[in-house]
Amino acid sequence: MTTLQMETLNACPLCGTAALHHTLTAPDYESHTGDYGIDECGDCGAAFTNPRPVEADLPKLYAQRSTVDFPALDSGLVAHLRDFAIDRYLADPLRCLNSAPAEHGLDILDYGCGDGALARGLVRAARKHGRGYRITATDFHDAAPPRLAGIESIRYVPQARSQNEDVRYHAIFLRHVVEHHPQPDRLIRELKTRLHPGGRLFIEVPNRRSVWARAFGGAYCAYNLPRHLFHFDARSLTGAIERGNLRCERVALAHTPLLGHSLGYLLSRKIQNTGLVGVATYPVQVAVDALARTSSTLRATAIADG
Ligand SMILES: [Zn+2]
Repeated sequence: MTTLQMETLNACPLCGTAALHHTLTAPDYESHTGDYGIDECGDCGAAFTNPRPVEADLPKLYAQRSTVDFPALDSGLVAHLRDFAIDRYLADPLRCLNSAPAEHGLDILDYGCGDGALARGLVRAARKHGRGYRITATDFHDAAPPRLAGIESIRYVPQARSQNEDVRYHAIFLRHVVEHHPQPDRLIRELKTRLHPGGRLFIEVPNRRSVWARAFGGAYCAYNLPRHLFHFDARSLTGAIERGNLRCERVALAHTPLLGHSLGYLLSRKIQNTGLVGVATYPVQVAVDALARTSSTLRATAIADG
């Protein structure tokens, strides 16, 4: 079992207010490191895991590349569905990027690349649109994930080294990354220095306002305690972006399958979000959230005004 050094926060990590409201306590269903609370800030509305692992111990949580953040792609059909979802996800950001003239191609960073699905999606998109994307992927690990090995058009750089590189990007993707960071405004501020003027961050995070968060309580798999340190809604995501000195262009509602894992947590069974149960229940999941005018994820576009 992983041993983690913990810290308890007495104030909101984003705005510093001490008016905190405890919302729930739930276990680490994935690696069984104990129980964690989620507190909500009475001022800025941010919700965060408390107590939580100290920043220096966070890489321990991802050492095995085996958690829900690294989905098992055991069937060809699931892998295809995932690629299809990534292609759809990339359509809007790439329309936005491709509409701007870029004589020398575009520099794109996939920050927190996980198993590399998004970076591979960028390679497919570059081929499809006939565009020159220079793609860099970065993560905690020293070596590229196996699914990126041998893909020459993707440069993998370990995060520690990538921070010291003097490379500017037209776009940085943070797909299910910001909620893992202990200080999202600091991350966004750091990444701003690595954007060209007018460059964009494309952020996707789980939405804690989903109907399913209320239905499942602590078993809502998007809480993913203690790997998710923040639990955003549209207001607190916008707030984190603005505190990071970027302008929030838009926050859109979007969906990702999560009923499989949540049911699995509730029933103490191994059920995948992208397995039969997860895929079969996905239309119901989306319909219920859409009726309530909410969603399972939020997609924000943030721009570095020159
Ligand atoms: Zn706050």
